[in-house]
Amino acid sequence: MAKLNDNYAQLQGMYLFSEIAQRVAKYKADNPSANVISMGIGDVSQPLVPSVISALQKATLEMGTKEGFRGYGPEQGYDFLREAIAKNDYADRNLAISADEIFISDGSKCDVGNFQELFHADARIAISDPVYPVYVDSQIMAGRSGNFDGSLWDNIYYIPCSIENNFIPELPKTPVDVIYLCYPNNPTGTVLSRAELKKWVDYAKKEQAIILFDAAYEAYITDSDIPRSIYEIEGASDVAIEFKSFSKTAGFTGLRCAYTVVPKNVFGTYSNGEKKDLHSLWKRRQSTKYNGCPYIVQRAAEALYTPEAKVEIENILSIYKNNARVIFDTMQAKGLQVVGGENSPYVWVKTPANYGSWEFFSLLLEKTNIVCTPGVGFGLMGEGYIRFSAFASTENTLKAMESFKNLIL
Ligand code: PLP
Repeated sequence: MAKLNDNYAQLQGMYLFSEIAQRVAKYKADNPSANVISMGIGDVSQPLVPSVISALQKATLEMGTKEGFRGYGPEQGYDFLREAIAKNDYADRNLAISADEIFISDGSKCDVGNFQELFHADARIAISDPVYPVYVDSQIMAGRSGNFDGSLWDNIYYIPCSIENNFIPELPKTPVDVIYLCYPNNPTGTVLSRAELKKWVDYAKKEQAIILFDAAYEAYITDSDIPRSIYEIEGASDVAIEFKSFSKTAGFTGLRCAYTVVPKNVFGTYSNGEKKDLHSLWKRRQSTKYNGCPYIVQRAAEALYTPEAKVEIENILSIYKNNARVIFDTMQAKGLQVVGGENSPYVWVKTPANYGSWEFFSLLLEKTNIVCTPGVGFGLMGEGYIRFSAFASTENTLKAMESFKNLIL
């Protein structure tokens, strides 16, 4: 029989959202009349905006003509989209990122999952806890996580984030090579001020570490003191890779488009001491294993940068931002400890009366028909918390919060 990758045998349980889906499916089968409202997985509910639809239609028709047909596109993405991103997301904010440093893909999940391939098998990785599960699981699959003691991996440097430290990550006390930061944070919904983020960039420069900065929720930032890109911090383009996605900004969770910025000035070293830039490694990796995001989808993403689309998107974002506020206020009024919900679509809540995360998940499902995400699914430090997402419709969010108000705790 074929020998398998033993690293996969090390993965704990199933992927968090598959586990939730199974439990919810069972509950629905046992309770067919229940009106279950999902505030669990961070999937959006609002349809694509008109500007995106007309760009998709136009590009589709173009593909049906002899002159407009496109086959394989450039692996790094079409220039029209990379230039629109470089101008709107960087140059217009006075950030010096060139179109050539941008790699288009069909989602940030694959980019944040795949990027670790560029690092040595023994590279020491710092990851906050709780965290988007893809960062840890992709280390395990690559055999980089070390040994598991039943709750933690010994080659991962965990950065605890909890009520005790106000969800502000502390710099590592022992050397690390790579640091994953995600802000606005999934799952806690917390953000890092410019001064806090600067500490990390300074640390990475001093220790020659690399920061993988996941900014999937950047569009939710309204506070001007919160950086929307890590490149707002001086020196970051020497040490940081930035991941951005159109999923939560423009409802592209089904359409699929994202981008990764790999500045040409970020370097690592091979075991023989040779210095190498990550930009050319990522380009080599992508051109070997990836054939590009569809042309029509890249045209749809390009359309997001038109003035009309910017207004359309802002209207959608304001629905989710209002939902987040309603959830946050409901939790606070109920006397629960809660963070996030501001500059973020996620609300992170401490369970009352020492309920475990899964225990409270089941209680909520049974008593209110709300699906949340158990915090422990994001890491050990998430035990005793749950996460609500603001991506349901306003109607469902209001309905769910009305039931929550009546919940006897
Ligand atoms: N990064 C974070 C922190 C996320 O929460 C998600 C999706 O939920 C992603 C990346 C993946 O986004 P995409 O839909 O672009 O794959």
